Amino acid sequence: MNSYFIGVDIGGTNVRLAVVGENGAIAAFSSFFIKSKSLANDQSGLNHNQKYNPDDPVKNEIRNISLNIKELLKKASPVVSSVKGVGIGIAGQIDRDAGSVLFAPNLGWRNIPLKEILEKDINLPVFVMNDLTAITYGEWKRGAGTGVKDLLCIFVGTGIGSGIVINDRLTGGCGNTAGEIGHIVIVSGGRKCHCSNYGCLEAYAGGWGIAERTKEMALKDPAGFKNIIDLAGGIENITAFTISKAYKLNDGVAVRIMEETGQYLSDGVVTAVNLLNPCMVILGGGIIEGFPELVAVVEGEVKKRALKAATNNLTIAVSKLGNNAGVIGAAGVAASKS
Ligand SMILES: [Zn+2]
Repeated sequence: MNSYFIGVDIGGTNVRLAVVGENGAIAAFSSFFIKSKSLANDQSGLNHNQKYNPDDPVKNEIRNISLNIKELLKKASPVVSSVKGVGIGIAGQIDRDAGSVLFAPNLGWRNIPLKEILEKDINLPVFVMNDLTAITYGEWKRGAGTGVKDLLCIFVGTGIGSGIVINDRLTGGCGNTAGEIGHIVIVSGGRKCHCSNYGCLEAYAGGWGIAERTKEMALKDPAGFKNIIDLAGGIENITAFTISKAYKLNDGVAVRIMEETGQYLSDGVVTAVNLLNPCMVILGGGIIEGFPELVAVVEGEVKKRALKAATNNLTIAVSKLGNNAGVIGAAGVAASKS
């Protein structure tokens, strides 16, 4: 009999859920937007001892996840006989054994005992992991990286994260936080990052970094940025999505921002390729989908600037599973642990 697992992908702006079969096929799917970010939890990254507060808005989000899992189980019940567990990928650092979220900078979640809360409510085993662990597992087992023993999977969305496969194993590192490529410093003393450091890659090339850079430039030169400001309906509403819309309309300013973003992203990928010597780098996420030309830019820069020996057998590939990599991978990791 086929067994199924639920995969949940908690991103910076929405939560996606799917019932996934052993072969990676999706039997049922749902998604919802994250309404409130944590107000009570300190987002500065400085207060490492802050405890989970049950009155926090995060509680409502977790209740929402729980309700959606139950609804999805109901929706899938005519075709799915047995769901054996839930895998959850979230953009943040995880205590894998406790199943708790230590810090999710782009959500403002800190010290959330996610596994404990959900298991009480849904009566299924829950496995919590970094979202890029889930996405990388998905791409490695079912997507662009099938059969590759050394790969780096980089997703550029609201933030930037990566998963690392070395010698046919997903690497977690000492404290299970390996792969935080978004927090490689590319500009010494540069832009302030959500992690509290300065000059991190995602403060330049992540969705929020692109939006912040553009807003600052638009404030200084409203006439030059008129098209983008009009598209957004005001400087304060500019997002990376606005730039991608303007880019598709061939707006000169948006093209320049994309080119700069390509250089920043390449800085990070060149560093990672020199450090890890993967056979394949997989690129995906909302920013790559919004600016598909970034893949060719990064490929060109990496081949030009990384060490020759590190790029001789390197393939730069695009995510095959796209938006579904997280749910398929989270369910796959849960199945592998059962
Ligand atoms: Zn950072």
